[in-house]
Amino acid sequence: MKFQHVYIGNITLGEGQPVVVQSMTNTDTANVEATVAQCKRMIAAGAEMVRITVPSMKEVESLRQIKEQLRAEGINTPLIADVHFNPKVAEAAAGIVEKVRVNPGNYVDKRNFKTLDLSEEEYQSSLDAMEAKAKPLFETCKAHGTALRIGINHGSLADRIVSRYGNTPHAMAMSAIEWLDICEKNDFRNMVFSMKASNVNTMMAATLDLYQMMQERSTLYPIHLGVTEAGNGTEGRVKSAAGIGALLMMGIGNTIRVSLTEKPENETPFAHTLIKVIKDLKDTDYHITGQTLIYQKSEPDFDRWIAGAAAMSGYLNYQQKIKDIRIENPHFSQAENDNLAATILQACRLKMSKTEFISCPSCGRTQYDIESVLAQVKERFAHYPGLKLAVMGCIVNGPGEMADADYGIVGATNGLAAVYKGKERVSEIIPVQQALEQLQKLIEG
Ligand code: SF4
Repeated sequence: MKFQHVYIGNITLGEGQPVVVQSMTNTDTANVEATVAQCKRMIAAGAEMVRITVPSMKEVESLRQIKEQLRAEGINTPLIADVHFNPKVAEAAAGIVEKVRVNPGNYVDKRNFKTLDLSEEEYQSSLDAMEAKAKPLFETCKAHGTALRIGINHGSLADRIVSRYGNTPHAMAMSAIEWLDICEKNDFRNMVFSMKASNVNTMMAATLDLYQMMQERSTLYPIHLGVTEAGNGTEGRVKSAAGIGALLMMGIGNTIRVSLTEKPENETPFAHTLIKVIKDLKDTDYHITGQTLIYQKSEPDFDRWIAGAAAMSGYLNYQQKIKDIRIENPHFSQAENDNLAATILQACRLKMSKTEFISCPSCGRTQYDIESVLAQVKERFAHYPGLKLAVMGCIVNGPGEMADADYGIVGATNGLAAVYKGKERVSEIIPVQQALEQLQKLIEG
């Protein structure tokens, strides 16, 4: 087996290297001062790489200034440009920062949620078009030593892929493999792959499928792990720990991001805790009775407690060894232990006892107060077991990426929002309070 190492500024990812923690800014990238200040807070909180959204050419110049200001202060943390569907922006950013994230689902193809009946020739010509668009990016990356993340999102798979493989974890893995083929054909190997979904089981299945296909091809590229749109608070942390933690327990994952709908500085401490907790887990921490996991651990630290219990549960659930969870930690009341068990069961989709909230971490595209909207949505709609509600930061990517949510509120410009039923917008662009009222009417019929 060949282990491909990937070089991102002063960081090396891959076999024998430590797992690297990263996070993403949510300031407006064009606001250079605010973004530099946020980068510094994130780095102080443990971010070892910082990702910044670059939606258009306008922000490319801002990216250059952000990097210059950080380097002038002696801060050499690698920067990553997050580019979704603009090859020209990706090429320009690749000449500036150490890594660029692209999304094969929308780099060339589009997701219109239509079934395409493509012949073999048509399918191949779509791949050829993708390669033609990607070639200049590979050349820029090679010239500057820039790495790429091929970042697959379950919510933004191309119609071409979904029509051929279904809306499945395998479709996600195949989307990555198509890019892997194109990269290798163009002699480009400085790349990392990620398979993100808001559903922990989907994210794990896609990552394991990709990992197995890479093993069969005899070259393992580094993998970035993350559960996207995980939400906030204990729920967001538990979902991340169940997915990321379980895969780390299997020895898979080279860099991680815990996505939270909170300020970015909150993400990295939990990510570092998760990595440490996985190393400290012992066989004596748990046993299985029937199909119930009994997680017994005397752990006074809240984050360590939830990270360990969720990672162990995600790991055993994936192996179909458990159907229920009981948690016993004397440092917390039985009600708190039971509530954590219910939150983990929900994250693993073993038992849906409350509303499932899906919310993105927000980024430079967000123009409304997503944290406050999420808090209001959670307060109003907490008690609808089985209902999936999304709160997303932007109308550009939010609707596509809100996964299998039944309804959602999506941020628009100037603090306004829109209401969605599935992927369909069912309101005008309206103030948030009106959107909440409309959502309530829709849910209550
Ligand atoms: S959905 Fe959220 S994280 Fe994704 S691009 Fe929009 S604001 Fe950013």
